Amino acid sequence: MAARPDSTSSMSTRAITKNQFDVAADLIDLEDHMRRIFLMPFRTVAVEVPVRMDDGDIDVFRGYRIQHNGARGPCKGGIRFHPEADEQEVLGLATTMTWKTALLDIPFGGAKGGVQINPRNLSMREYEAVTRAFTSRIAIVLGPYRDIPAPDMGTNAQVMAWILDEFSKRRGYTPAMVTGKPISLGGSQGREEATGRGVMYTMQEYANDFGVPLKDGTVVIQGFGNVGGHLARLLQEQGAKVLAVSDVDGGIYNPKGLAIPELFQHAYVDRNPVQEFDGGDHITNTELWSVGCDWLVPAALGGAINRETNADKVKCRVVVEAANSPVTPIADKILEERGISVLPDFLVNAGGVVVSYFEWVQNLQQHPWSLDQVNRELLNRMTRVYRDVRDIVKEREVSWRTAAYMISLARVAEAERLRGHQ
Ligand code: GLU
Repeated sequence: MAARPDSTSSMSTRAITKNQFDVAADLIDLEDHMRRIFLMPFRTVAVEVPVRMDDGDIDVFRGYRIQHNGARGPCKGGIRFHPEADEQEVLGLATTMTWKTALLDIPFGGAKGGVQINPRNLSMREYEAVTRAFTSRIAIVLGPYRDIPAPDMGTNAQVMAWILDEFSKRRGYTPAMVTGKPISLGGSQGREEATGRGVMYTMQEYANDFGVPLKDGTVVIQGFGNVGGHLARLLQEQGAKVLAVSDVDGGIYNPKGLAIPELFQHAYVDRNPVQEFDGGDHITNTELWSVGCDWLVPAALGGAINRETNADKVKCRVVVEAANSPVTPIADKILEERGISVLPDFLVNAGGVVVSYFEWVQNLQQHPWSLDQVNRELLNRMTRVYRDVRDIVKEREVSWRTAAYMISLARVAEAERLRGHQ
């Protein structure tokens, strides 16, 4: 496996989360035992996932479901299919989910699942078989009041449909056991674009407060998947100029702004590489980071902005963490010293899990909402939480990440204390 960024001592997503956590924990005088509770997961389920491949052989993959904390409600978080989704990575992501659900004040804890596999190498039949085998092995810890999976990298609404079907075979029809489902199986209006939409709402608020323009402002987005793709489309509708985007194979750049609706069709809907789109110059994934812009949005893997490759090169006013943990702690410091604000992942990209919460509510009440209601309630919640964080940034003169941690840690710690874990 490739070395992770800032990895002199194997600085992983887990270590990234810990380092940034300590600053806020000190500011709210968090007790030592509480820090130890938060350092470890509540429960780790590690499974083997045996699957008969199309060539007739049986391959065995590694899978995890890690429940970091459930003090505030059932554990919640996506399932990632990715070669680097090892135990350490999944634990870091599960921990972020605890802070995300607490910050947005939705009644969930944090979890994450992962299968160490590259979904690009799977046929549809193999993809379904992996999903079903993994679901059957972790089903024992899932359920609408225990732990509720959702999509993440390498998974989508179809995968959620297979998870629902596999679970329902054993336990009966239970739509609230998974979110991010297709609408015809109880999914919510607006869930697919919810993460991108939430990122846009946060950027709108920041634009109003700090005068970084959104209309006619310039944006660079790394990643053109569920988050980056929808975000590009929504920002362009707001009048922003998306100068450059990339996917795993490379990027494209147009100083006048890319034609996003056409690019969205080409790369997101039709699943073609962005570089095969006419209407921009080819740039490498390294060059993307030094394109000058107002807003730089990493929307792919963790550790994308790091000391070794790009933290001193980015030329933007704000970094918007649409991915989970895209800025390493050292890069975070470098950016701070350079006067570049970083809006943290568990605030910025929380729109997905917020609409997952709405989906869960709709399933439990058996009462679907309109798209208008979903978007209105998403806007209200993202805006309210953004303002809570902003007020702490101003009053306590701390970074956005520290302010957000202060709110989340205090909420989860209070729930732990009230349950008697003091
Ligand atoms: N995978 C998404 C995240 O990282 C969504 C999780 C969910 O909806 O439960 O926030």
